[in-house]
Amino acid sequence: MRRAGLAGAPAAGWNGGRMSQTEDLVLAYRILAAHGVVDAYGHVSVRVERDPHRYLLARAMAPELVTADDILEFDLDSNVIRDPGAALYLERYIHGEIYKSRPEVQAVVHNHSPSVIPFGVTTVPLRPLFNTGAFIGEGIPTFEIRDFQESGDLIIKSPHLGASLAKVLGPKPAALMRGHGSVVVGDSLMLAVVRSVYLELSAKLQMQAMLIAGPGGKIVYLDDKEVAATSGRQASAGTWRRTWDLWCTKARAQIAAEESARRRRS
Ligand SMILES: [Zn+2]
Repeated sequence: MRRAGLAGAPAAGWNGGRMSQTEDLVLAYRILAAHGVVDAYGHVSVRVERDPHRYLLARAMAPELVTADDILEFDLDSNVIRDPGAALYLERYIHGEIYKSRPEVQAVVHNHSPSVIPFGVTTVPLRPLFNTGAFIGEGIPTFEIRDFQESGDLIIKSPHLGASLAKVLGPKPAALMRGHGSVVVGDSLMLAVVRSVYLELSAKLQMQAMLIAGPGGKIVYLDDKEVAATSGRQASAGTWRRTWDLWCTKARAQIAAEESARRRRS
């Protein structure tokens, strides 16, 4: 089932929807870069619609430069299907292992989202404090890599570490990775991207609220009832479609400008 796509993009057809999924994924990379969720690092993947045991992910490169030609297909052990000799993300196991453990998850974002990192290295929990960040109220666990290896390396560079991260994530929408970043999932590419952008924004707003409130100051967070009601409405009302379409429009304009500049140069 096609869960999120480009307005006006071709429907799933001769290639089982791979082309439109690739286009969506390129836009997802661009959107995450435009919102400062990823910089030169970080990546986003989507489960292949025609084969749930595969996923699409870019070759190892800066997200802001990803084009359709850079998208590769992987199995859930994170082996590339047709090896073009391209460099691969060392941390691709994050994606494969989460897809294995969460059959409903259709997209995974790994980022080093700057405002989120302080919450991974302190005991201050991220809490839901505004409408579009309500999903945070579902719980955001923290992955401590020292619990799973002793090498001192913070990178998820093995299936074991990927599976360990997936286990800590459990059924939640996101997990913080201590001293590193976070992982965010969704039952659509749209949802994983939207959550990633609002996780970054919410962390920033929470820090501002804590600064204004001062030590021990009162901050009114969303309560469980508000989280449940808001999340339910956002899921059923197609709330994110307007956001997604806006961001896709901007990303497509950026890509078109790049292509135009390239044609002028050649
Ligand atoms: Zn990373």
